[in-house]
Amino acid sequence: MNQLAIIGSGPAGYTAAIYAARANLAPVLFTGKQTGGQLTTTNDVENYPGFPDGVNGTELMNLFERQSTRFGTVVKSSCVVTRITRRDGGFTVNWTDMLEGVDASADYQTVIVATGASVKYLGLPGEEEFFPPIDKKAGLSGCAVCDGALPLYRNQPVVVVGGGDTASEESSHMTKFASVVYLLHRRDSLRASKIMADRVLSNPKIKPLWNSALVGYITDEKGRMAGITVEDVNTKARRQVDVKGVFMAIGHTPNTQFLRDSDLGLTFDESGYLVVEHGCHTSVPGLFAAGDVRDRKYRQAVTAAGMGCMAALEAEHYLGALKA
Ligand code: FAD
Ligand code: NAP
Repeated sequence: MNQLAIIGSGPAGYTAAIYAARANLAPVLFTGKQTGGQLTTTNDVENYPGFPDGVNGTELMNLFERQSTRFGTVVKSSCVVTRITRRDGGFTVNWTDMLEGVDASADYQTVIVATGASVKYLGLPGEEEFFPPIDKKAGLSGCAVCDGALPLYRNQPVVVVGGGDTASEESSHMTKFASVVYLLHRRDSLRASKIMADRVLSNPKIKPLWNSALVGYITDEKGRMAGITVEDVNTKARRQVDVKGVFMAIGHTPNTQFLRDSDLGLTFDESGYLVVEHGCHTSVPGLFAAGDVRDRKYRQAVTAAGMGCMAALEAEHYLGALKA
């Protein structure tokens, strides 16, 4: 039986792989659909230690991968884990290879889940048509850094929804392309860190829409985004704002649905995050969790990487105890 499967290729997964590979655990890492994880959707990572001048998110994740394979991690690219079941002495991991279109499975003594989180949408009527795989030409996106440069947004009004760091970053990014960027937030102050909030609020191309809720999409005759209906949360007054693009930045949902479907007896909190003890122990012995999938509070690359390290060390101890 293989020793260790790592599910996810964000900072948590690759860091777990670096530690596990150096401990001769021969880890097999499943990248999922988003190789490199959330950081591949951002240009500038300015707070990851060791990069005083900042680093591009994709570049940083390529370095993580190189460091993990240098010590022998086997990376299963574009492989999405669909189910994990218990078996004698470990777990059976089932996955789909998205490139080859084939399903496969293998057995592992331990598993580290590092599947992170995905963009949340509002669930408004009509949104389903734009849902992932998002029709990028229709005007609804969960990632300005990925889609913002498309011709349909050039010199056009767009809106970013949310008030956190992601919304701030996406708004700043869109000022490079759009004629005006509305920042629509349900309260009258940003949740974003001070440095990001200051940047946004001093940018003349960004116009905050405070105390506002997006309550509907308006499309043109070809089904493309033409505007939104905005409701004042205090007065409930509604108005139309013309935009060609809506960028959703209201947070993320932990990628744990496949674990719920697996029926392993894992414990989740009310939002679907994995509940852990001692940093990374799930309620199932031998199954560890690291990064945003078990962290609703910090959600930073460096904390995810730290948890990846912890999970690998705990997996090593667990495997050691199995052998003893
Ligand atoms: P993720 O990065 O979310 O990676 C999850 C991985 O799991 C992905 O590879 C995915 O493909 C894989 N996966 C999911 N489901 C499956 C499955 N079923 N099978 C196999 N694989 C699966 N943090 C900072 O510290 N600094 C920043 O500047 C910063 N900028 C950000 C900008 C944006 C736009 C966003 C969205 C986030 C940013 N963050 C930043 C937060 C940071 O990206 C996350 O905290 C971090 O990426 C979490 O790492 P992770 O490894 O837990 O998960
Ligand atoms: P977040 O901090 O959870 O912010 C989500 C925002 O969306 C909040 O302002 C929230 O409003 C709003 N929101 C949530 N649900 C909503 C709903 N149903 N309708 C309307 N608005 C809603 O998420 P995030 O901005 O994606 O950041 C996630 C983590 O990644 C954070 O830890 C952040 O620091 C990190 N990150 C860091 C960087 C960086 O350091 N450069 C960049 C991006 C992200 P309320 O404020 O009213 O709750």
